[in-house]
Amino acid sequence: MKMLEGKKVIITGASRGIGRGIAEVFARAGADVAFTYSSSEAPALELEAELKALGVNARAYKSNAASFEEAETLVAEVLNDFGGVDVLINNAGITRDNLLMRMNESDFDQVIATNLKSVFNMTKAIQRTLLKQRSGSIINISSVVGVKGNAGQANYAASKAGMIGFTKSIALELGSRNIRCNAIAPGFIETEMTQKLDEKTVQGWRDAIPLKRGGTAEDVANACLFLASDLSGYITGQVIHVDGGMLT
Ligand code: NAP
Repeated sequence: MKMLEGKKVIITGASRGIGRGIAEVFARAGADVAFTYSSSEAPALELEAELKALGVNARAYKSNAASFEEAETLVAEVLNDFGGVDVLINNAGITRDNLLMRMNESDFDQVIATNLKSVFNMTKAIQRTLLKQRSGSIINISSVVGVKGNAGQANYAASKAGMIGFTKSIALELGSRNIRCNAIAPGFIETEMTQKLDEKTVQGWRDAIPLKRGGTAEDVANACLFLASDLSGYITGQVIHVDGGMLT
């Protein structure tokens, strides 16, 4: 039997990057995968077909993670289409990097709404279902930047640190109902998000990593696989670093 056979998962922001990697790893592990995107419709539909070809149920939903109403609609649609949910992965995220001197209000608000409020939106929308079934695993994709801070990313670091506080609080609130909530703190993962950085910055990150390479979406997905499965049944409220030793 495959590791996630019979499990149903919702992943936000899986049209590309880490979310896409998680969707692929989860489908190979036998999970049915509902996932969202914001604007990349063609890659999302391509992923939906790729996952279905692996023999699982899969569907792409256009849904803005920053919107409370859209999160409620999404969860209702997924419950209707898939007949339940066991795992929620809050992955959707953006950057609007700038030094504080040049960061405007919209840069701050957009990052907080997409990266942090989205986690509240989705967790709130799904909690009644998880409480009723007395099981569930919620995985929040935070960042090493939320633990350590980073010049030029005060908005992003604040959103990612906020996710960690939220994760620990929900673990305390929902643990008695067998619902676990953990965060993953990826380091430097080579996706479109990090392709925006200049080569000097990228080399700086690589030099600082004990394993001497950037991570892959699959590296993060494998940690998610563990946290979604029963192998992590006694783990909640934790932050697992997937960073090649960057913060060691
Ligand atoms: P990415 O390649 O830029 O992909 C971001 C994904 O999020 C896309 O699927 C995008 O959909 C979706 N998205 C963006 N805004 C959204 C919204 N408002 N509603 C729904 N979906 C939305 O980023 P990534 O590198 O894979 O990062 C994924 C997560 O890991 C983020 O939370 C990021 O902060 C975190 N992380 C990344 C790294 C890294 O080094 N890459 C390190 C630490 C943490 P569209 O394609 O439709 O825009």
